[in-house]
Amino acid sequence: MLAAIERIGRDRRTGGYRRFAWNDADMELREWFADEAAARGMAYEEDGNGNQVAWLGAGASGGDGASGGEGADALLLGSHLDSVPDGGAYDGPLGVVSSFAALDQLRRDGFVPSRPIAVACFADEEGARFGVACAGSRLAAGTLAPEKALALTDVDGCTLAEVMRARGRDPRRVGRSAWLDRVGAFVELHVEQGRALVHSGDAVGVATAIWPHGRWRLDFSGRADHAGTTPMEDRRDPMPAYAATVVAATARAVDAQARATFGRVVVEPGGANAVPSRVSGWLDARAPDDGALARLIDTVLVDARAAAAQARVGLGVTVESASPAVGFDTALRERLAAVLAAPSLPTGAGHDAGVLSRVVPTAMLFVRNPTGVSHSPDEHADDADCAAGVDALATVVRELA
Ligand SMILES: [Zn+2]
Repeated sequence: MLAAIERIGRDRRTGGYRRFAWNDADMELREWFADEAAARGMAYEEDGNGNQVAWLGAGASGGDGASGGEGADALLLGSHLDSVPDGGAYDGPLGVVSSFAALDQLRRDGFVPSRPIAVACFADEEGARFGVACAGSRLAAGTLAPEKALALTDVDGCTLAEVMRARGRDPRRVGRSAWLDRVGAFVELHVEQGRALVHSGDAVGVATAIWPHGRWRLDFSGRADHAGTTPMEDRRDPMPAYAATVVAATARAVDAQARATFGRVVVEPGGANAVPSRVSGWLDARAPDDGALARLIDTVLVDARAAAAQARVGLGVTVESASPAVGFDTALRERLAAVLAAPSLPTGAGHDAGVLSRVVPTAMLFVRNPTGVSHSPDEHADDADCAAGVDALATVVRELA
């Protein structure tokens, strides 16, 4: 199945994937998912948010208006098929194909589940196009307001509402998904985005928690000037203040055993021979718990204000997003760790499973990634480990369904 979708949305120059919400690659992957559901005789539905669901042992709910009426007894598997810019082949797709593969294996073994099983492909997990991660699962769970989502714009200035309409979807259907009411547990398998399993020597692990994380925009504003005629002592240059902040944040994160990343910076006016008037940097910060993240941000902002004062420039801080720590359902994850004899590990990455854990008992399985590299064409998992992931997921289905 991974081979079947290998070419979809792949950039020939970089080898990375560009599967963004509602782009051509995304549409092709949607068709692929629906075909896989049909090939297995599963009832297929797409909810108003673009989340795709294939049901085994129960009919589709017939749209967001219908409750289904079966109660919350279904076991949900799945992940996402979209990618970050130049993403790898496994982040997302491994969870979707492993879900189908685990059900194939169980069918071959003659296993008959005692509860409905669904496989989901969540829309726009990476937020690469509209800037909000896990938009599909957040909308389904009711933790993202439809009007806020529909007004999000891509780089071309198109709103989500316009893009959905262009793809034949009705923006009025965006919002809480009724099919989720029928789900009693969710298990997402995902390639590990780190090397904990390499160190422990295991192919598969069980997630304990998702670190709290957030995004802060720091705007350093000074005065544009001539790079040749303005003496150093007369400048109000925001760049040295920004640079000092990056260096300080890196050291603070090391001290706190946390993460601080400035992966995006915008410089105005952006001339090689001009002192900048403004430098905006985006700080992505993550830490093991909410208190540690708050302390990290506090110390970084103290450093940033000191650097701004020294450079005689202004500093504005905007919180663009903040996600508190997610602890997965203790009983469920301990049960899975026991039945799989798998180690438990936390993660610094956000997932649909983190979103759904607020509304349904949720667990995650990780599959070993030899380099730990993710969100890159170099992302990889060995075939044998992928097969072990499918086996683990099949064991989980036997245990829970
Ligand atoms: Zn992912």
